[in-house]
Amino acid sequence: MISNSKMKQETKNIGMNVEMPKASCTDINCPFHGQLKVRGRQLTATVISTKMRRSAVIEFERLHFVSKYERYEKRRTKIKVHSPDCVAAKDGDVVTVMECRPLSKTKNFVIIAKTGSEFGFKERMKARELSKAKGLRTAKEEAAVEEKEEK
Ligand SMILES: [Zn+2]
Repeated sequence: MISNSKMKQETKNIGMNVEMPKASCTDINCPFHGQLKVRGRQLTATVISTKMRRSAVIEFERLHFVSKYERYEKRRTKIKVHSPDCVAAKDGDVVTVMECRPLSKTKNFVIIAKTGSEFGFKERMKARELSKAKGLRTAKEEAAVEEKEEK
């Protein structure tokens, strides 16, 4: 058994071709400083929420073939992932995630590296928020908005 202090110092090689985090952490479910092993699928996606402690929601686009039109449509997939303290992922970051054992009912991926940040992420989220609000507005509110726009 490795002692906690030793775990904190060493950054393990997880066997993937990614940059190792410079910071250290005490998270037991960190692939670099804890006991977690990674295997299976590897994905690249954007972080859209980090409101949970040591968890994040990531989102990516995939293409789905529609046979009637013989074309592809875009579909979005959201998954919950574990976010170790040392990686420190923020909203809008593009991250590489790797499959791991199930950490909870809905988490079986872990962030292993940050590769950059999405261009225009804030604007994209704002636009989505606005379109959501539009659908929820009542007829009365809608009329008020239209009146304002006319002025
Ligand atoms: Zn760590």
